[in-house]
Amino acid sequence: MRNETVRTDITVIGGGLAGVCAAIAAARLGQTVALVQNRPVLGGNSSSEVRVWVCGATAHGTHRYARETGIMGELFVENQYRNPDGNPYMWDLVVLEAVKAEANIRLFLNTDVHEVEADGDELNRTIRSVTGWMMGSERRLRFESQVYLDCTGDGLVGFMAGAKYRIGREARHEYNEEWAPETADDITLGSTLLFYTKDAGHPVRYVPPSFAKDITQTTIPVKRVIRSGDSGCHYWWIEWGGELDTVHDNERIRDELWAVIYGIWDYIKNSGKFDSANMTLEWVGALPGKREYRRFVGDYVLNQNDVLAQREFEDGVAFGGWSIDLHPPQGMYSTESGSKHLHADGVYHVPFRSLYSVNVNNMLMAGRDISASHVAFGTTRVMATCAVIGEAAGTGAALCAAKGVTPRELYASHCDELRQTLLRQDASIIGLRNADSLDLAQQARTSASSTLMRLSEESYGEERYRLTRDAALLFPVEPRLDGLELLLDADTATTVEVELWDTGRKENYLPHTLRASSQASVLPGRSQWVRFELAWTPDTAQNAFVIVKANDSVQLYHASEPLTGVLIFFNGLEPNAPSKLEYHGHSQPVIQWRMQRKTRQPFCFRADGDTSAYAPDKARNGYRRPYGGPQQWMSEPTPAGQEQWLQLDWEQAVRIEELQLIFNDDVNEDLINLHHHRTPFVTMPELVRDYRIEAWIDGQWQSLERITDNRKRKRVHRLSEPASSDRVRIVVEATNGSRHAEIVEVRVYGE
Ligand SMILES: Cc1cc2nc3c(=O)[nH]c(=O)nc-3n(C[C@H](O)[C@H](O)[C@H](O)COP(=O)(O)OP(=O)(O)OC[C@H]3O[C@@H](n4cnc5c(N)ncnc54)[C@H](O)[C@@H]3O)c2cc1C
Repeated sequence: MRNETVRTDITVIGGGLAGVCAAIAAARLGQTVALVQNRPVLGGNSSSEVRVWVCGATAHGTHRYARETGIMGELFVENQYRNPDGNPYMWDLVVLEAVKAEANIRLFLNTDVHEVEADGDELNRTIRSVTGWMMGSERRLRFESQVYLDCTGDGLVGFMAGAKYRIGREARHEYNEEWAPETADDITLGSTLLFYTKDAGHPVRYVPPSFAKDITQTTIPVKRVIRSGDSGCHYWWIEWGGELDTVHDNERIRDELWAVIYGIWDYIKNSGKFDSANMTLEWVGALPGKREYRRFVGDYVLNQNDVLAQREFEDGVAFGGWSIDLHPPQGMYSTESGSKHLHADGVYHVPFRSLYSVNVNNMLMAGRDISASHVAFGTTRVMATCAVIGEAAGTGAALCAAKGVTPRELYASHCDELRQTLLRQDASIIGLRNADSLDLAQQARTSASSTLMRLSEESYGEERYRLTRDAALLFPVEPRLDGLELLLDADTATTVEVELWDTGRKENYLPHTLRASSQASVLPGRSQWVRFELAWTPDTAQNAFVIVKANDSVQLYHASEPLTGVLIFFNGLEPNAPSKLEYHGHSQPVIQWRMQRKTRQPFCFRADGDTSAYAPDKARNGYRRPYGGPQQWMSEPTPAGQEQWLQLDWEQAVRIEELQLIFNDDVNEDLINLHHHRTPFVTMPELVRDYRIEAWIDGQWQSLERITDNRKRKRVHRLSEPASSDRVRIVVEATNGSRHAEIVEVRVYGE
């Protein structure tokens, strides 16, 4: 046996997605990090040991342009490429490799932290060290750092350090939350074990173990959904323990979950109700996935009203978008729906003050243990949101370590720097503009080989949409719209009505205020371009949400290719999941207006008037993701083999050491690591594939770098030799499938 001491700037305890992203974020900012994880694999509930699929702000496509960027975004996009089958072991590798790529991280797997040395009075505690035992290695490891991050999910480190916390549900009056119970209690969400099945290709007998539960004696067969081919997260509802203590009763909860899983499998195999003769169990979880335990109290407690009002915070450092998703205390034995969902109208913001302890002065937290009420935790708990919170907390920790300040001091004195650092790292913040004075692109003029000026979708395939319900088309209006044409078939002579709505907030994609309406008489006939007098000049550039009113005798044409910035919606379609598993309530606007999986096939249309929504200047206007418009440069459609370029010019030569490029990885495309659905491509078609960076030197363009086979959103080019020039350009040679060259942001640094 050995005793060792590990000294780093920061110690992150817990290697779920929150801890992984916190560690990577801090390491990328130059801090040394110990990442301590008590399991043999990283990823927490998303790992192959538990197999929960990673969801986030898109909420399975409910919110538009909401997919996370930053470290979580990199993991999603890399997994999409490497792991199109959603294999849990491949996902483990994607996460492990991301950590191993960081030289500043020392990773300690199989190391369970269960001692904490902390001092100070109750209101001002300081962690001095945490100590863990590395299983299988007989190593007792003491970690000493300036800053600690509790990413354990259960919150053991903070608890032992004396951090204030809550378990269970707050009373309604505490934060005036409609979904909170009248009086506070200890109820939490329960824990779950999942299982995988497969077709063995030959008949397989199943003899249930003696402890398997006869589920026909429960309400499970009636109140939940059992299908023989389902696996993994389809069975998220095998949940129990919400009325127990999900940590101290963990073993008892596991036994109950096992009894039910083996009972469900007995029901599938031996009841005669399923076509399951060849089916066999491939994997059964042994480590209960815990949903909820301690939530630390920070300087701010995020609550239901903040989420639903999409409240903006001066210290907003991350966003989420999953519904407030709460489950009945009895879990799988409840006769109520397995979950109920309350959706905001768009993504919501998470303040930095919810990511550090109110009374332990060197502890931040990320993941499911942040400072949120039980109701707000109902949405922040999903893993891509935990991950972006992790990136924000890790960035905060890195700045604290570098400046020698506490998280509270960082909030009070360096909040803008924190947010701008996150933006520069491509973290998931919405509505914040680049204000980095070191970015030379801010003073440059921009131009391009070509720019898309006319918004239209004219090519179509076989698919039509019969207007049995209202449908809608969303596109950017900048500076104005003079009229709109739609391509349609009409069975009879009829009148087609359209309404133009604004979307209110720029991060929302719903009809908010009616701005114009129009109608057109249509004769029977196929493939007619019908014009609507729909004019609108918004005060500032923003999206138009054009509703085409239901008309049974009309069919709209689906376009054969997508166009960045253009979306369509269908009104009132049934949600995918049955209401006995998920109750969403149809009156919620984002449930009313759904995208289906048609996001890449908008309706054929032509917008009158030129648009400047894709102007070259958008690549340096400070926004990194769609916000009231696409916020990126886009070229005209380009034949394969033809180049397009985006150029930056300065009055005088500048010294160029580093270029940061952000390409369009379509943050509207919903990616789930273990595949809720598959995308038809493994790389986002809009991502630039081959490109050169050129500078004007000695009277000609000289290539500084040439990249081929790019499949990443963010590329940082640190030049081996700094260049001096008054002009640089990015020459796009090829994309990963799109006919347009698209660049979201260019930053240029000279020091
Ligand atoms: C069954 C189930 C279904 C869910 N459904 C979804 C879903 O569909 N999509 C989604 O995104 N989210 C879902 N969630 C929620 C989500 O999984 C959790 O909220 C999320 O995993 C929390 O992330 P985290 O990093 O905070 O914690 P975790 O994922 O719990 O990771 C914490 C890690 O820290 C380690 N650790 C704990 N204590 C110590 C210690 N003392 N020392 C060292 N390491 C320690 C743990 O072993 C673990 O690996 C679900 C959860 C469950 C259980």
